[in-house]
Amino acid sequence: MTNSHTLLNVTGLKKQFSSGRRGAPPVKAVDDVSFDIAEGATLGLVGESGCGKSTTGRSVLRLIEPTAGNINFMGQELTGLSPSALRAMRRNMQMVFQDPFASLNPRMTIGEVLEEPLIVHGLFDRATRKRKVADILDLVGLSQRYADRHPHEFSGGQRQRVGIARAIITRPKLVVADEAVSALDVSIQAQILNLLQDLQKELGLTYLFVSHDLAVIRHVSDRIGVMYLGRMVESGSCESVYNFPKHPYTQALLSAIPREHPDQVRERIVLQGSIPNPAAPPSGCHFHPRCPSCMEICKTQAPQTTALAAGEYVSCHLYR
Ligand code: SF4
Repeated sequence: MTNSHTLLNVTGLKKQFSSGRRGAPPVKAVDDVSFDIAEGATLGLVGESGCGKSTTGRSVLRLIEPTAGNINFMGQELTGLSPSALRAMRRNMQMVFQDPFASLNPRMTIGEVLEEPLIVHGLFDRATRKRKVADILDLVGLSQRYADRHPHEFSGGQRQRVGIARAIITRPKLVVADEAVSALDVSIQAQILNLLQDLQKELGLTYLFVSHDLAVIRHVSDRIGVMYLGRMVESGSCESVYNFPKHPYTQALLSAIPREHPDQVRERIVLQGSIPNPAAPPSGCHFHPRCPSCMEICKTQAPQTTALAAGEYVSCHLYR
């Protein structure tokens, strides 16, 4: 479900980390990334490990502090919010992690895990909170009886249902899902992706969906952003990026995923080498050492982002 009202607008987002070596330049984990997401829509961010997609998701929620850029959410600029205003805003923007229990106390029951965000945000009295927990378990397809159980009693798919329930119990507007199905078997992945889509329709949720898996991203996204070494190299509608990829990196990523129809012809593009060290990225276009279309200019000049059509962008010297 897509409408034209922009819920999240991110402009010029940067996140730099110290390289840990004296005098060495910082690592540009996210380098001037811009995008927006319409209310009720899903933007899928895809790229290999280390491309900055997870750092982008966490920076948007200010779980880590961006180095520069603007994040406008629900009409408010998040980068200038005080810690207390940000805490209040967090009710509206939540995160689903790859392993939702990694940071939780294993002695807590599922009921306590789910009630905690309501307590943190001062929502409802105790009896109402218990009812909300029962309701949310229903909504994610788990029995209410599970409220008294502990995380270790659950399968991976059930744990992720709890992770989703915990994220949506405060009824947020935006959910950032970071590799939310990556640790699951393929059949369970499909169930969780379907659950996320059903919840999106029912609750009007907006998703920023982060994954290394283009097949997963394609399944859930209205728009796709492709990242490489901290930069957004291509973005556009799901149909456009998937059916007519422009950037050589997107073309290579797509060539590696299984075809949907036997008569669909897609030549496998094998990329040379592995993703470079983000602490010492290649000059010019970061992708140039691996790019089958590399030209001289690519080695020295970073390409600008070009708008090819409404909402379709690419950063590559082939499209000047
Ligand atoms: Fe390849 Fe050059 Fe385009 Fe980079 S700018 S993707 S090296 S053609």
